[in-house]
Amino acid sequence: MEKEAARIVATLMAASARTAPKTKGEDSIKTLILDGDDVEGLAAGMERKAEKMPPHTAEMLRTNADSVRVSSCVLLIGVTGEPKRLERPLDCGACGYDNCESLARAAKRTKDFTGPVCIFQALDLGIALASAVKIASELNIDNRMMYSIGVAAKEMKLLDADVIIGIPLSVTGKNPYSARR
Ligand code: SF4
Repeated sequence: MEKEAARIVATLMAASARTAPKTKGEDSIKTLILDGDDVEGLAAGMERKAEKMPPHTAEMLRTNADSVRVSSCVLLIGVTGEPKRLERPLDCGACGYDNCESLARAAKRTKDFTGPVCIFQALDLGIALASAVKIASELNIDNRMMYSIGVAAKEMKLLDADVIIGIPLSVTGKNPYSARR
């Protein structure tokens, strides 16, 4: 029942990410739920990614992989970074370019994530994440936003997105995402 509860809430969180407000009314948010054997596959992917990271980041990935392993399921939320509505550009400069057209033409680089990204896509990701974890919080399902899940999911090509954040979910008597080593 507890695993089923986590799974149901993950679907509600994905729905909340979908209906969350989007800047300029354009939606580039992607979601995916991992459960069953895919959760262990993700944890293993995080440990593989840790091998390529500097020590302080590697430690964070390994600790979070342990947390993922004891989770019922994981929700991925990602976004692509293209400028919005090029026909009526904002040209705000927050991406470091003079205008949206320059970002659209810029060569993409992939490190942990792919960039550069339009600030409005990044804002949408933050709003979608907040909307999703609000649902989990209201329904008392333990959760935590994790960059470390996102970088592993990105390397494993689990979601067609430039930036990804993962949210593991758990239903146990003790929150596995707090008071960790
Ligand atoms: S961040 Fe860059 S691409 Fe996005 S609106 Fe501003 S100038 Fe355009």
